[in-house]
Amino acid sequence: MIRAGGIESDAVVVGAGPAGAAFALNLAPLHRVLVLDRRDGPAVRIGESLAPAARRLLTDMGLWDAFLAEGHSPCHGGRSVWGGPLPVEADTLRDLDGPGWHLDRGRFDGWLRRVAASRGAALLAPAQPLAITRDREGWLLKVETAGRRIPVRTRLLVDAGGRGSPLAKRFGARRTVSDRLVCGWVHGRDADGRQSGLTWIEAEPDGWWYSAPLPAGRRVVAFHTDADLPAAADARDAVSLLRRLSGCSDLFRSLTACGFEPEGQGGFCAAHSSTLSSASGDGWLAVGDAALGFDPLSSQGIFNALYTGLAAAEAADRHLSGDPGALPGYAAGLAPIRDAYRTHLHAWYGLERRWPDRPFWSRRFKVPSPVPGEGGDPRRERGEGEG
Ligand SMILES: Cc1cc2nc3c(=O)[nH]c(=O)nc-3n(C[C@H](O)[C@H](O)[C@H](O)COP(=O)(O)OP(=O)(O)OC[C@H]3O[C@@H](n4cnc5c(N)ncnc54)[C@H](O)[C@@H]3O)c2cc1C
Repeated sequence: MIRAGGIESDAVVVGAGPAGAAFALNLAPLHRVLVLDRRDGPAVRIGESLAPAARRLLTDMGLWDAFLAEGHSPCHGGRSVWGGPLPVEADTLRDLDGPGWHLDRGRFDGWLRRVAASRGAALLAPAQPLAITRDREGWLLKVETAGRRIPVRTRLLVDAGGRGSPLAKRFGARRTVSDRLVCGWVHGRDADGRQSGLTWIEAEPDGWWYSAPLPAGRRVVAFHTDADLPAAADARDAVSLLRRLSGCSDLFRSLTACGFEPEGQGGFCAAHSSTLSSASGDGWLAVGDAALGFDPLSSQGIFNALYTGLAAAEAADRHLSGDPGALPGYAAGLAPIRDAYRTHLHAWYGLERRWPDRPFWSRRFKVPSPVPGEGGDPRRERGEGEG
């Protein structure tokens, strides 16, 4: 693949998160795949609840047994205080796919990168494309890595760069944002060592809380609100977040009972729903968050990253074999996913009617419409902050 004049590949993937890695590990056995990521390893971040149905995707990719050996924690259901003051529990006992999962997110993302490499993908990190130009047979890139600029020639470009859609935006695709959701989070440890295996969610007047036990006795606690509301100030640092948490009845009581001890500074990031005007174009496609960004309430982001990575790899194989309808067909297949997601999200937020006059909730009772100009938080426009 590496020649004197640079690197030759069939597909270059920008972004080695779950979507980029899923794409690469599925296409690499068939074509030459190069993956670039600006980070040399996965970031510390929030985003760990994996839906039970992910089992089917992992099985289709030949990864189920290897996933089980990674030692993530099973998630047996959820406890929510949502739509009323009393907690309600729902379990996964009757789910044919078995339990969901609370991932060690760094381990999961790093594992997917290694699987992609073991199936033949080349990984360059830290690395990012500086210049991208069209040439007769595809694309010519100038890639910056380790202080060098390497020419890379490829037939297909894949935007797996997360919420910033770094490639698709260069090619003129527009990202439409539907709300201003942001998230502040902190990791910690449960001192009592007994974990419930449940995801917790609790609504409050200006947003909602989330907590999940993680492998090795760890836990994450997060607060979600809108970037333009005063409550967002409490999401920006761990001290303010934990102060606000003490006013949150059920979750605070439960975390106190677990002996939750926060560790580190935590993080703050964009968490809005967003969609790309088109997930493919002439010689490129977008996968994962770069194509569709989901509200964390849905716990669908990683599932969507795996699904679109797999579906896009199948489309890429057909495209590279000369099928002109493969890339548009892939993009068209995302429309029903986006529509079903919007309907479900609207229904979920609609269940909480206790604070109809509070802006966070009254905004969500309306039928979703795009926020013009990608909202007011500049971090969101850059797709930054998940870690
Ligand atoms: C607050 C919050 C909570 C969440 N909770 C959950 C959850 O519980 N369950 C769930 O399923 N999902 C959750 N998600 C969503 C989930 O984290 C994402 O959907 C998932 O990470 C998307 O994977 P991806 O590979 O598309 O993007 P990412 O994981 O963002 O990966 C993108 C990669 O691209 C790289 N990159 C970006 N730009 C460039 C560039 N120019 N050059 C080179 N590399 C670049 C980045 O370094 C990164 O490695 C949550 C999201 C948020 C914001």
